[in-house]
Amino acid sequence: MLKKLILVLNCGSSSLKFSILDPNSKKIYVSGMIERLFLKNTVVFIYSDKKRYTKNLSDYTNYSDALNFIFKKIKNKYFNCYNKIYGIGHRIVHGGDKLNKSVIITDKILKIIKKFSIFAPLHNPANLKGIQISKKFFPHLKKNNVAVFDTSFHSSLPKSSFLYAIPYKFYKKNKIRRYGAHGISHNYILNKTSKVLNKSKNLLNIISCHLGNGSSVTAIKSGKSIDTSMGLTPLEGLVMGTRSGDLDPAIIFFMYNKLGLSIESIEKILTHKSGLLGISTKSSDCRYSEKNYQYNKNSKLAIKIFCHRVAKYIGAYSTLMNGRLDAVVFTGGIGENSFLIRRKVISKLNLLGLYIDKNINTNTKFHKKYFINTKNSIKILVIPTKEELFIAQETQKLINKKNI
Ligand code: ADP
Repeated sequence: MLKKLILVLNCGSSSLKFSILDPNSKKIYVSGMIERLFLKNTVVFIYSDKKRYTKNLSDYTNYSDALNFIFKKIKNKYFNCYNKIYGIGHRIVHGGDKLNKSVIITDKILKIIKKFSIFAPLHNPANLKGIQISKKFFPHLKKNNVAVFDTSFHSSLPKSSFLYAIPYKFYKKNKIRRYGAHGISHNYILNKTSKVLNKSKNLLNIISCHLGNGSSVTAIKSGKSIDTSMGLTPLEGLVMGTRSGDLDPAIIFFMYNKLGLSIESIEKILTHKSGLLGISTKSSDCRYSEKNYQYNKNSKLAIKIFCHRVAKYIGAYSTLMNGRLDAVVFTGGIGENSFLIRRKVISKLNLLGLYIDKNINTNTKFHKKYFINTKNSIKILVIPTKEELFIAQETQKLINKKNI
């Protein structure tokens, strides 16, 4: 049997997603997710071309049980593709400043990922669990596990954008700096934009807007990330589903000193109760605020603040492009689907020469053509992100290199 498939694992803090795909033909054979890990009503979904499988797992299912469940399903006759898998690509959220490209996972690499859990306490430990369990379940592929980092695309950030203006020793000693995130998506968007515009990556100046439950904007100049909105952790930057993004750090002191909140509860507020959820007071889901935009003042505010912040970043990043911006690209669940958000963001940026074609923007068929700008505008594109494809291709590349 020809082994040509890569298993891609994306282990999040409370959910895990996986795909089994051919990095050459780009065909996804099986994919799925488990939602609500460690919570009540844990549920698993698995899809292939012809089959769909949904099942409620026992409440509070942990990583180990969840992954073993999925791996067994992949192995049994129902979704039989275990024997065709020859590599496993793991999405790793934080590689710190040590891991600036994808790597085959060795014990040394595991130690570094563990070390940088300090900056991604919800994600890196989950990613490590994914590696550990897949090595057990696929013992014959032990040396074909590859780590692909969300931070590595941003290793090209210059000091002027990655350093915070706090005493330098905190960078030198404690590695406090901006690392960015969503690098896998921004990197995929760069590659795809280069193909769509038929222009070499090294010559491209673009602003990539990944707008989803987590959101970030990246300034890419001559094919390199030169600034990005997420910081030491994915809490900085844009307004997100439940994360506040940028704020005055003094708010934390105020909440602690004057409101008597504990550090733990402040962290929970800024991470899980803010963003679209905090402002709308109802939901972290952008669709909710969009639906209620006309009728509910908080939903309207949530959308307005979200768009204001995205436009502000695009405006600021355009000044880093040495006078030539090739394109602004939207991606992620919101960027790909919300014509209201795209229209509102771009309407604030006419000064830069960005104009949206309102008809094309609202017509979902445009997706094939990518462009949503008017003729006289700088290019504005919508490109569906394919992080799993990027991870599979990186995994294939590294395994092939190792086997030469
Ligand atoms: P994640 O960061 O978890 O990968 P996604 O990229 O899937 O998230 O994006 C999730 C967000 O996309 C949610 O806020 C959801 O409301 C939004 N979204 C999905 N479809 C639409 C749509 N048709 N219109 C507006 N927002 C949408």
